[in-house]
Amino acid sequence: MNIVFLGPPGAGKGTQAQYLCNDFRLQQLSTGDILRLNIKQKTDLGKTAEDYIAKGELVPDNLIIDMIRSEIAKYSRDQGFLFDGFPRTISQAEALDSLLDDMNKKIDISIELKVPDENIIDRLSGRRICPICGATYHIKYNPPKVEGVCDIDGGELYQRKDDNPETIKNRLEVYKNQTVPIVNYYKKYNKLEQVNGVGELHNVYRIINEIVSKVN
Ligand code: AMP
Repeated sequence: MNIVFLGPPGAGKGTQAQYLCNDFRLQQLSTGDILRLNIKQKTDLGKTAEDYIAKGELVPDNLIIDMIRSEIAKYSRDQGFLFDGFPRTISQAEALDSLLDDMNKKIDISIELKVPDENIIDRLSGRRICPICGATYHIKYNPPKVEGVCDIDGGELYQRKDDNPETIKNRLEVYKNQTVPIVNYYKKYNKLEQVNGVGELHNVYRIINEIVSKVN
């Protein structure tokens, strides 16, 4: 089974993806996480991507598509994937379809998490991340037991550089202009489910789990 998670930055895709991957043994492929790892490791891709990410712009399609192709190649053929933060443009969606097609695979369902802009700003500006395990917290809505410290491994939580008001505004614009058209792309193929992403994390997940269970 292969799933695409759609939704604006801060919709909760990463967190919900982790729950889903645990329950359905999927491999999460988050293009944002892979790019950030490349930046940390100072690869050529990381050096190119850094400026785009800092501005909240999309990294060029050809780089992203090559990156996802080599990620997929790392896993066995029967591994199912959950694509988180990818595709973000129609070209990426088409490239993903053809990549999967070459392996006799397909996207089974795409899930769009819907969250209004006002909630996004609030969510992203309070988001904190563990550098060790990648767990995400929110200073108000999902705080760690000890302030600034990851519950799982004691990592010192940090705030992403692009989670600042100016960049958040641009990321939302970019989402509307370049990524929202993908919603219709999957709708056209009858592969779209829309979920209200506002509410308690586990309530949102229950709905997502039901959708995926039906597809599986
Ligand atoms: P995310 O962690 O998904 O919010 O992504 C952080 C940033 O990485 C985005 O604002 C983009 O600059 C870049 N990025 C992540 N995924 C993609 C993608 N599929 N296409 C282009 N740029 C991406």
